[in-house]
Amino acid sequence: MKYALISDIHANLEALQAVLEKANELEVDQFLCLGDVVGYNAEPVECVKIIRSLNTGAIIKGNHDENAAQDSELTGFNPQAAKAIQWTRDQLSEEDREWLASLPYRQTIGAKVTLVHATLDMPHLWGYIFDRFTAAASLSYQFSQLCFVGHTHVPQIYDKYTDIVQNGVDQVVNLEPGHKYLINIGSVGQPRDGDPRSSFAVHDTEERTIEIHRVEYDIQKCQDKILAAGLPERLAARLAVGR
Ligand code: ZN
Repeated sequence: MKYALISDIHANLEALQAVLEKANELEVDQFLCLGDVVGYNAEPVECVKIIRSLNTGAIIKGNHDENAAQDSELTGFNPQAAKAIQWTRDQLSEEDREWLASLPYRQTIGAKVTLVHATLDMPHLWGYIFDRFTAAASLSYQFSQLCFVGHTHVPQIYDKYTDIVQNGVDQVVNLEPGHKYLINIGSVGQPRDGDPRSSFAVHDTEERTIEIHRVEYDIQKCQDKILAAGLPERLAARLAVGR
């Protein structure tokens, strides 16, 4: 089985289309989505529609999905993110918002794979894993060999037993039996590791490998839509630098 794992699409239609095209080229069998389909960028309706129509084994809820689905006050978001969430709420249908609200915080696929947007220790509190120390709390709740996460928009692979952290970008990482891995797959729609290309992962269960792929997309087109929608300029600017 060959899975494509995608996360943090953030309403970036151009990026999503480019990633799906690449995944199809790689002949993946199924998609696993780690959440934040909406937020920040200007195509939430179209991105929700595409994700709902994909052949997915699981779709997990992200913090932007949760907030876009609610009517509550927006606390804990920077002003630009909050503005984008309010704008997103106004775009989505009630039906799409109910669908976002219904997504689970975590899901297990077979015995070996767990999916969560932020962390396994407290998925609903949206903590960030930036290094092996913050990874440790999540790893202590991880009973499967692999746990895939998103949320930071920075791809990274943590090996619990060797403490080795690698970014896994454009290189095949062989999974060692008996090791436990926490894999951040990066972001499709708003990468933040200084590389503006979209990020997603392919996990081959027979070859026992993971590879993080980076894909170019039409950034300018996405930026034009952000500005035309009246969303904060900074949200367009950051896409060009991957921050
Ligand atoms: Zn996100």
